Amino acid sequence: VIITPPPADSYPSESLSGIGGLSEIVRELRELVELPLKRSELLTKLGLEPPCGVLLVGPPGTGKTLTARALAEDLGVNYIAIVGPEIMGKYYGEAEARLRSLFEKASRSAPCIIFIDEIDSLAPDRSKVEGEVEKRVVAQLLSLMDGFAKTKGVIVLAATNRSEHLDPALRRPGRFDREIQFRIPDRAGRLEILRILTRAMSLDATVNLDTIADLAGGMVGADLKALCQKAAYVALRRLVPSLSQPTPHTMSVTQTDFLEAIKQIKPAVLRSVQVES
Ligand code: ATP
Repeated sequence: VIITPPPADSYPSESLSGIGGLSEIVRELRELVELPLKRSELLTKLGLEPPCGVLLVGPPGTGKTLTARALAEDLGVNYIAIVGPEIMGKYYGEAEARLRSLFEKASRSAPCIIFIDEIDSLAPDRSKVEGEVEKRVVAQLLSLMDGFAKTKGVIVLAATNRSEHLDPALRRPGRFDREIQFRIPDRAGRLEILRILTRAMSLDATVNLDTIADLAGGMVGADLKALCQKAAYVALRRLVPSLSQPTPHTMSVTQTDFLEAIKQIKPAVLRSVQVES
């Protein structure tokens, strides 16, 4: 179980300015979580039920985790993150106990965002699974979410690549009744992400991010990050072919380094086509 951050008064270290191409999603998500986290009494006075859970649905590497963390940071609320498969234990009732203690910790740390990554592994459709353990874990999660509907200042964000595999009971009102779709970025989105990812890099004047965005069709944020890293390594090998060599005075990544790196990265779209065929 990864709990971030351990002390209740510290915040995660991501920021909304580090997210590219998702301004609409960030705005929508912010609208959903800010009021219930910070001013839930305004909603209750109007007789409205504050949302309890929001599903973040989309392919791997599209920025779901990044967005959840950055939002917690931006709103100045605590953030507790878990990865679905990591909560499952060896002993009877272990996973349920971990979930209970996590939710208790969150209510003590309100206002707080709980982020559950890969929720499909924690809450699969019970009509399609054999194992008793999985069924019990789903039931526990549902009952914790129901109890939470009355708790003020805690919101559960849960990410999945495959929302159709989730137990349908999870979608009922008062549970995960809101859903936000993360999509593979378009050209403008890729360009924005590339601009952000290269902010701290030393770029040569030849670098043209527009052209790179054109050539990177189908890549998600995580692919673009890998592309930037790879380009930097190509530059490193070019500039310092042997480690016994002194450090050059100036080092920068060129367009040719990016073009070399792009050949080595397979975009998410192509990977999923390959998996499906
Ligand atoms: P998974 O489903 O595999 O957990 P995810 O959708 O949660 O994936 P992240 O873990 O948020 O994806 O993304 C991985 C990394 O890719 C991020 O840490 C970040 O460096 C980069 N990244 C992804 N999307 C973006 C984006 N929109 N803007 C900037 N960086 C991004």
